[in-house]
Amino acid sequence: MPETKQETESLRARLEEVQRRIEASARRVGRDPSEVTLIAVSKTHPAHVLREAQAAGASVFGENRVQEAEAKIEELGRGEGTRWHLIGHLQANKARRAVRLFDCIHSIDSTELAGRLERLCVEEERESLDVLIQIDLAGEETKSGASEEKLPALVASFGECQRLRLKGLMILPPFGEDAEQSRPFFRRLRELRDELHARDVFKGGAGELSMGMSHDFETAIEEGATMVRVGTAIFGSRKPRGLR
Ligand SMILES: *Cc1c(COP(=O)(O)O)cnc(C)c1O
Repeated sequence: MPETKQETESLRARLEEVQRRIEASARRVGRDPSEVTLIAVSKTHPAHVLREAQAAGASVFGENRVQEAEAKIEELGRGEGTRWHLIGHLQANKARRAVRLFDCIHSIDSTELAGRLERLCVEEERESLDVLIQIDLAGEETKSGASEEKLPALVASFGECQRLRLKGLMILPPFGEDAEQSRPFFRRLRELRDELHARDVFKGGAGELSMGMSHDFETAIEEGATMVRVGTAIFGSRKPRGLR
């Protein structure tokens, strides 16, 4: 079903509005807006909608399921102007395909997963793969992410990796309507990033901070986010899975 002209224009308008808000919040705290990468979180939305976003200027897409992303990547392509980030939990049995498909994986939460991805990069002849460690600072049982206690061992395990490039940290704080509820989590993630950067663990840079979603990305930028993962504010609300 092709989008109507009106829907296309509203997608463009929403994308521009998000970009404007990113710029404004960066400037508010004296940051250069170009330090912030917008990841358009396109999960659940069909490829033709992603194409509209691509035409409107979106160049980095975030997906949380390998299988769903695969078909879209095939359709939209992957290259300089179209990057794909895996932002959801990665199951071991999907790891090989993730290595083939994604430019960056945000959800490394165990030494086992890091080790597996490193081996798969060798097998798949992938020279390098950018990854982020997902941290769970709230101790939420249902969420993936490494605890702060496990972080040192996980970071140390990257010492043995030739192909995985640890680029930074990611967080998905407990959801609260009020963006201010996320602020302490963003702040703590930044402190952890700074500590790790002081030990020079990040490959080629000061360490990315992947934090902030539709309801709290401005707060995240104020706290130092370098990647914001925005879905609803660009694409509108998602239909519940299963009803698609
Ligand atoms: C879905 C999702 C987002 C985007 O959420 P919105 O509220 O739609 O902006 C960001 N990060 C992760 C990990 C997600 O799964």
